[in-house]
Amino acid sequence: MQFTPVNEIPAIRKELEASFRKGVAQSLKWRRHQLYQLARMVQDHLDEWVQAIIADLGRPIAETYPSETGLIIERSIISATQLETWTAPEVLTEVVPDWQKSWKPTIYRAAKGVVLIIGPWNYPMVLTLQPLMGAIAAGCCAVVKPSELSPHYSALLAKLLPKYLDPSAYRVILGGPDVGAQAMEIRCKSHIFFTGGGKVGRIIATAAGKHLTPVTLELGGKSPIIVDPNYDIKLAAKRILWGKISNCGQICVCPDHVFVVREKQEEFIAALKEYYHQFFPDGALASDSIGRIVNEAHFNRLKGLLARTKGNIVLGGQTDDKLRMEPTIIKDVTQEDSLMEEELFGPILPILPVDSMEDAISQIRSRPHPLMLYVFTDDPKLKKNVLANTLSGNIAFNDTFQALSVNELPLGGVGDSGCGYQILRHGFNTFSYLRSSIDMPRDAEASLEVRYPPYTKEKVAF
Ligand code: NAD
Repeated sequence: MQFTPVNEIPAIRKELEASFRKGVAQSLKWRRHQLYQLARMVQDHLDEWVQAIIADLGRPIAETYPSETGLIIERSIISATQLETWTAPEVLTEVVPDWQKSWKPTIYRAAKGVVLIIGPWNYPMVLTLQPLMGAIAAGCCAVVKPSELSPHYSALLAKLLPKYLDPSAYRVILGGPDVGAQAMEIRCKSHIFFTGGGKVGRIIATAAGKHLTPVTLELGGKSPIIVDPNYDIKLAAKRILWGKISNCGQICVCPDHVFVVREKQEEFIAALKEYYHQFFPDGALASDSIGRIVNEAHFNRLKGLLARTKGNIVLGGQTDDKLRMEPTIIKDVTQEDSLMEEELFGPILPILPVDSMEDAISQIRSRPHPLMLYVFTDDPKLKKNVLANTLSGNIAFNDTFQALSVNELPLGGVGDSGCGYQILRHGFNTFSYLRSSIDMPRDAEASLEVRYPPYTKEKVAF
């Protein structure tokens, strides 16, 4: 993958600024065409995209269509068809008091300008093209920087995007932190949409703060699971194991660790083992149904965390020389363990035995707000208790991250897991701002007379 020379980035930005000022991205007809073109770009080269993602992540094809290619095709088309509804000015004459009706109070959804989208490697397509979709729908121009750690995807994007989308409005730049940092250094006031880890997220927020640039931070963190002892333990184990192995655990909303009451720990482990053998009859390392760890640095990081754990490995733990790692279950883990130091981002599931559901809730409250919180329970009181006493970007009851396939739900974090939202209308909202407006009629002058000096006694007699 050839990186974009950093000294070329200011010129790219200038070109896009000029296009935005000329109004290139303004008409709805043009935006709709770009959104359809985005869908075509993915559809026409389906196999190339899938192969690029396999080369980067070794991810099974069965996981890629629903989470990346299929999703982008479907959501680009929905965006194109919803454009008129999303962009329609909101005329408020019905809701304002009578004396303001003639002013035609209206909210316009206006494009923010030239925006920067910085993506991670773990879902390289959906996490660059989904925000781009929002930017196109909103009428913005955009610079997209995919991750250097998914080089096959990134190179393909740089090759195909200019063939389908108007390059005077949308550009791809390739590279790592240097290129990303350079893209932010140019006085960018419109919006930065960043998806990645909290460490880089803080760098982005600081750089954006310098220019008062609005940011969306789609970050990660340790998303916990609570399993109610009265829930169906086998079903919980099956759904949790699926959540843990998809993309080999490298998902921002991956269930990170699980709280189970002490007396149910062994039953839960037995169920996890049963489903492990069902999912991988010949073992995970011999299976095509699980991906691999993205690179050696992450592979060694995970092996290092496992080497230092004080918990007991009850399943898995083996790796091979192709960056593959067995789904690994560790029991009797405590908050002080190596596995609780950072977001795991791999197929490792620590089990933290607790005394009660209250104990689990209080342990969750003692850590930064996660992106997702998973609760397996049928008990409405426990659901209410968790909702009232915890904060998380999103919450799912009785499943793991299937919620992400619901088109109408926004995805976003809170506190350490980020700020701002994406997915369809919510992405459109991110890249537009609410432009309030009135249009005062000439004949309103009589009713406005009271505001002009001199402020006589009659005028101030409220
Ligand atoms: P990362 O933070 O290392 O990198 C993300 C992007 O930032 C890459 O394109 C990288 O080149 C760029 N970058 C790095 N340093 C930079 C700098 N100084 N200036 C500008 N850009 C810079 O993250 P990653 O390892 O690619 O992704 C994994 C992380 O992303 C995990 O923490 C995961 O939870 C999170 N994530 C969050 C979501 C979400 O929707 N909330 C989705 C996927 C991944």
